[in-house]
Amino acid sequence: MSFLKTLKHRLFRAGGSPGLSVLAYHRIGDRTATPYDRLVFTADQEQLEQHVRYFQKRHRIVGLDEAIEIASGRQTPTDRAILITFDDGYLDNYEAGLPVLKALDVEAVFFLATSFLAGGTLAWWDRIAWLVKTADERRFRLPVNGTVADLDLSRMSPDDAVEKVLDIYKACSGEEVPLVMQALESAPRAQADPEPQQLFLGPEEARGLCRAGMRVGSHTVSHRILAQIDAEDQREELRLSRSILERETGSTVDVLAYPVGGQEHFTRTTEALARDCGYRAAFSCHGGINRPDRSNPYDIKRIPVYWGARPQWLLGA
Ligand SMILES: [Zn+2]
Repeated sequence: MSFLKTLKHRLFRAGGSPGLSVLAYHRIGDRTATPYDRLVFTADQEQLEQHVRYFQKRHRIVGLDEAIEIASGRQTPTDRAILITFDDGYLDNYEAGLPVLKALDVEAVFFLATSFLAGGTLAWWDRIAWLVKTADERRFRLPVNGTVADLDLSRMSPDDAVEKVLDIYKACSGEEVPLVMQALESAPRAQADPEPQQLFLGPEEARGLCRAGMRVGSHTVSHRILAQIDAEDQREELRLSRSILERETGSTVDVLAYPVGGQEHFTRTTEALARDCGYRAAFSCHGGINRPDRSNPYDIKRIPVYWGARPQWLLGA
């Protein structure tokens, strides 16, 4: 390879091929301090700042509107555009994430589930993490996908055990979900539930995000996996969450992130319902880069950020 070709090759790789990478962050903070799910922590404040600075230096961070133009095929990028998003609406997004975004002048999108916004609800993955970590019983028989999973968690680390059970929950049918919860809830445990704490941001913080120039999108009402519920319930999740968020923030809310967001967690019906309910775009979370020639505004691909990831590992080629 000639010198020029090598240089061009290196520059191309360093910048990434043209397209849109959307990153999905969840909790921001110290993951050792939680009695709940540690796997939902994606970075602490310092790591988030490092990521954002890296993307600004090596790529181009865009806002929601430009990202949708690219993902809809209406704009062809010549470089790698990056959109930063946060799911679920944990309070730490507001307290630790927002100051970084403001200081570095980045517009990010926050996808909020309105039952969490209203307060008092523990997310199912946090409840499951607590139940799995504190159960005296380490063997579980859990229904999944028409069969029964016989689990022995005794040799797994607490995080691995939680991840295993969460994988089962996500693969369940709607009828199996309450049976899984029942099996976990009824296991004997010595520890009492932790004192309730405010885990999620409320309407005041949601308004604060909008005032700070951030964008708010829907993450449904209950954060149930949409493929696990029937079409009418899906419609209600999409319709009601949008109307609550618009009322509470006074801003237009017309983008959606499917809960969990794997290819199996929403269907073509879900995509059609999102369009029907007035969303102009919907984001999944099964990885991949959005290219204008393979665009679907109701399946804008996102890359889930994981704890300890270097920013350059997240973008792909
Ligand atoms: Zn979520």
